[in-house]
Amino acid sequence: MRVSGTQIYDEGGERSGAVVAYQDVTTENNALAQREEFVSAVSHELRTPLTSILGYLELASTDPSVPNLPRSYLAVASRNADRLERLINDLLTAGSGELEVTRTAIDLREVTTEAVATHQLRAKERGITVDFDAPEPCIVRGDRIRLAQVCDNLLSNAVKYSRDGGRVEVTLESTHGHAVLTVADDGIGIAAEEQGQIFDRFYRTSAARQSSVPGTGLGLHISRRLVQAQHGTLTFRSSEDSGSTFIVTLPQEVS
Ligand code: ADP
Repeated sequence: MRVSGTQIYDEGGERSGAVVAYQDVTTENNALAQREEFVSAVSHELRTPLTSILGYLELASTDPSVPNLPRSYLAVASRNADRLERLINDLLTAGSGELEVTRTAIDLREVTTEAVATHQLRAKERGITVDFDAPEPCIVRGDRIRLAQVCDNLLSNAVKYSRDGGRVEVTLESTHGHAVLTVADDGIGIAAEEQGQIFDRFYRTSAARQSSVPGTGLGLHISRRLVQAQHGTLTFRSSEDSGSTFIVTLPQEVS
């Protein structure tokens, strides 16, 4: 509540009254709090990989105990530089009005296989299995880089929001001229009352915010826009505490 007041004087200069205004500023304050929370999340997200890059590069250039350039240091620095690049791209994409996509015939099985391989490594460290088995190529009309970005986001979330020892299952099928890609996990799930908001820009569920899982709430917003720009859909079903399934459909290439 913002309160402001002013005195009223009559023609002779005598004080004759006062006006007090009470203004409800809840929305303004909420927006401000949201913006502050976002800036703090993004700063943290940018700073963590950068600190790691600088640290490992410093070690690589000054550690006297290792005669040759330690490749493992560079690998960590490079992984973190990738993370920073992805984050900056996300920030730029989320802020842009029109998303550019080029649609050509691409094999979604290939794109998915690459994304699965990338995330299997990180998943393994936490005892999470990521299964994907698609016997046939699956040709869709889409943008390879943008679809890789979508697969990357969905797999990254499935692993991030899984519990240690969990299981992620990826499937790819063709039905009625559409490719259907599903990414299912048995992780923390999404509460029913928050399900309407998860595609909103910067939205993170309270479970995600309370956990130590890093994130900015941009990935799903961008992924949905990217899939829609390729004439597809991105939907999900989820129940709190028992997992989520994200479903992408894309028009298939007619040969
Ligand atoms: P973030 O960077 O926070 O992971 P996203 O835009 O990718 O952002 O997702 C938005 C929010 O949706 C997440 O913060 C999380 O609360 C929820 N979410 C997304 N994927 C999952 C999932 N597989 N399981 C549980 N919650 C999820």
